[in-house]
Amino acid sequence: MQSLRDLLQAAQDKGVALGHFNISDLVLLKAVFAAARERNVPVLVGLSEGEREFAGTQQIAAFVRSLREEFDFPIFLNADHTHSLAKGLEAAKAGFDSIVFDLSALPFAENVRQTKQAVEALKSIHPAMLIEGEIGDIGSGSEIHETAPDLVKGLSTPEEARQFVEGTGVDILAPAVGNMHGMLLSMVQGKAKKRLHIESIAAIKRASGAFLTLHGGSGTDDEDLREAIAAGINIVHINTELRVAWRRGLEQSLASQPAEVVPYKILPPAIEAVEAVVNSRLELFNRERHFAQEG
Ligand SMILES: [Zn+2]
Repeated sequence: MQSLRDLLQAAQDKGVALGHFNISDLVLLKAVFAAARERNVPVLVGLSEGEREFAGTQQIAAFVRSLREEFDFPIFLNADHTHSLAKGLEAAKAGFDSIVFDLSALPFAENVRQTKQAVEALKSIHPAMLIEGEIGDIGSGSEIHETAPDLVKGLSTPEEARQFVEGTGVDILAPAVGNMHGMLLSMVQGKAKKRLHIESIAAIKRASGAFLTLHGGSGTDDEDLREAIAAGINIVHINTELRVAWRRGLEQSLASQPAEVVPYKILPPAIEAVEAVVNSRLELFNRERHFAQEG
């Protein structure tokens, strides 16, 4: 089995990105795994602190490990948006493959100082674990928001990116490049799309040399996602789109069989709805560019 670092490097060399999908239970895990196997591409599943609290940090790690071993399939586990070293150490001890250590709400210098300490502490427990740090402001909550946050003030600069990566030793950087967590109702309805600052991604990549993650990918214009990957994005996070699909699938299932009480008969349509979203996102992220033809 290739390591997550090797897979990221291989993806970068091919001009594709790894899909990262948030899960909080077995229904979502089954959906993501089924889609990844169908497409036969590596995949990352992630859980934020709240999602880990619901699923159980040790328990979800055991589930993902058992899938990886039984099927000899490259599914990796990420501790998404971890705001304290204590929660990070918990995930490291449970065997998570990577961690998003997110102190982006702190002033820049303090973010650098504490992230550096966390990188050292986490790697001393689990040396192969990849650590991601965050800069800039991309809002919080993978939910449906009423109003768009003002993202312009929180955009990351190439100089900040370089200083952050050099100052902390993170393996992966999550910059703010027009992306945001959650979706507006207009995006859920398909009437609006998020747009990304592609040039800013390319400049941050050149300045930092790090693997880059795009958070808050739900509801983003497909062509922007393709260009973002070409400009240096290595991991794309999708959460809200899955939550919307899960709820719709569940509602339709309950409505179509009002007397049913058997969970394993009610839940499959929710799995299928999520699986369809993951499948189409994986297809987009793993489409190889033909550099020669594009000059
Ligand atoms: Zn995120």
